[in-house]
Amino acid sequence: MNTEAPSTPSNFIKTIISEDVQNNKYNGKVATRFPPEPNGYLHIGHAKSICLNFGIAQEYKGGTCNLRFDDTNPSKEEIEYMEAIKFDVRWLGFDWQDRLYHASDYFDQLYAFAVELIKKGKAYVCSLSPEDTRAYRGTLQEPGKDSPYRNRSIDENLDLFERMKNGEYPEGAHVLRAKIDMASPNMNMRDPAIYRIKHVTHNRTGDAWPIYPMYDFAHCLSDSIEGITHSLCTLEFEDHRPLYDWILDQLDVPCHPQQIEFARLNLSYTVMSKRKLQVLVEQNFVSGWDDPRMPTIAGIRRRGYTPLSIRNFCERIGMARRDSMVDVALLEFSIREDLNEKAPRHLGVLRPLKVVIDNYPENQTEELNAPLHPNNPDMGSRAIPFSREIYIEKDDFLEEPPKKFFRLSPGREVRLRYAYFITCTHVVKDKTTGEIVEVHCTYDPATRGGDSPDGRKVKTTLHWVSAAHAMNAEVRLYDRLFNKENPDEGTNGSHFTDFINPDSLEVLIDCKIEPGLADAAPGYSFQFERLGYFCKDADSSKDHPVFNRTVTLKDAWVKIAGKEKP
Ligand code: ATP
Ligand code: MG
Repeated sequence: MNTEAPSTPSNFIKTIISEDVQNNKYNGKVATRFPPEPNGYLHIGHAKSICLNFGIAQEYKGGTCNLRFDDTNPSKEEIEYMEAIKFDVRWLGFDWQDRLYHASDYFDQLYAFAVELIKKGKAYVCSLSPEDTRAYRGTLQEPGKDSPYRNRSIDENLDLFERMKNGEYPEGAHVLRAKIDMASPNMNMRDPAIYRIKHVTHNRTGDAWPIYPMYDFAHCLSDSIEGITHSLCTLEFEDHRPLYDWILDQLDVPCHPQQIEFARLNLSYTVMSKRKLQVLVEQNFVSGWDDPRMPTIAGIRRRGYTPLSIRNFCERIGMARRDSMVDVALLEFSIREDLNEKAPRHLGVLRPLKVVIDNYPENQTEELNAPLHPNNPDMGSRAIPFSREIYIEKDDFLEEPPKKFFRLSPGREVRLRYAYFITCTHVVKDKTTGEIVEVHCTYDPATRGGDSPDGRKVKTTLHWVSAAHAMNAEVRLYDRLFNKENPDEGTNGSHFTDFINPDSLEVLIDCKIEPGLADAAPGYSFQFERLGYFCKDADSSKDHPVFNRTVTLKDAWVKIAGKEKP
């Protein structure tokens, strides 16, 4: 196959691959794979790996990328997870075409490879108890000890292994181990287990196998069987690379892929392992895998992120060989950047305050023209109704404003977006609570559309909706799921769930929105002017629209966090 390298490799992995292509290693072919274990939903860390592996396949001419489920650890929910994973990869914009594989596709071949290892005297059946196995393994400071079963004859090993496969033994009775070196400074090389007994039904192979291969054995061989050239994985597998290479070197395999490690993505104020995310789901800290506060792709999608924003984010964080923590603000930057360009603008009021425009005719409604995007006339416009009573944001009015408050207050004139200038005359308060129930204003009919004919300036433009025409809506505002930058880094035996932010979800049920939005489809993504980017949630019904705030317009967090520093 003729593979052409991209002109300037944008990271160290592509530099290596480009060199290999030039030197005609692997006949110039580039074949990668994304190998998730179907034990949960994918998260933004996986997105990094997906963009890398599928991105390389796209970038090098003739390149391919397989989607391979590492299903060597059977579990009940596997099918649900596999479907979710496929959906997420496609949604991110990638396509494995007909290259969908499962490690379980290779169970026969993997078994045959294990038998080959035994025949070469490179693997043995060990019958130590799990405790003894641990004791024999040694420590980082001390070498391990050879298992008393290490010198079983090849025939005995073949017989025992076959009987393991036939289901004659209970779990834990035996394991098949590679015969490498119990004194190796690399613990992974101290005769690692390569097959274990597990009497568990597998979703794809049923009860055919009471033994399952270990990850390290299955992974390198699956790579080889599929003709992978570059096996890209995260840094924690660096110490496993000698084992990856050892296994392939012992056996008569189709090819020997090169494992290359890169840094995991860690994101601030969240946790990233599927196991931990599952705890959040199971213990109801969140509403599900797709809760918009979750760092899962499903959660981020429901929150209103676009595939492009995630791909841009993954490109921006780059590829390093050292683990680091990426500020979640960078993810938020990527979605703002994308939506700023694409999202239509709408008006909505989250915490409504009634405004009565006393000199506006009762029973009159005007349709005001409002463009859907300030810089993109191609997006068109819509008509929004204006009438005598409107809602504005509670925050936008203060009876006794401090010096720098330029929004509405008695005697002050402001602009209503797309509508008129209004001036506050007085307020009406609830007699018992003293709370302001209505703000009274007058409007200047000459300012229709929001322009003043005499060049009069106002300091602020407010968003608003017509009271008689507004739809009620529920709006869900999200904050960081954790209070701690790295929830995994607790002290004194703390658990990551100790750092959950109790205020990560705020539900507002009395919001007023521009009427046209009631018909928007779930997933519709837009800006509520001045409030942030929002998208319609699938929980919506015709009479009860629900919106998620994807992200605020500006990064308020940085300012707040900055202030709290001593
Ligand atoms: P988790 O602990 O979240 O389940 P994992 O590594 O066990 O992570 P896999 O399903 O085995 O998850 O991962 C599939 C691929 O995605 C692997 O190649 C893995 O290295 C990569 N990957 C997983 N987490 C991250 C991450 N945070 N950043 C980059 N790549 C990741
Ligand atoms: Mg895992």
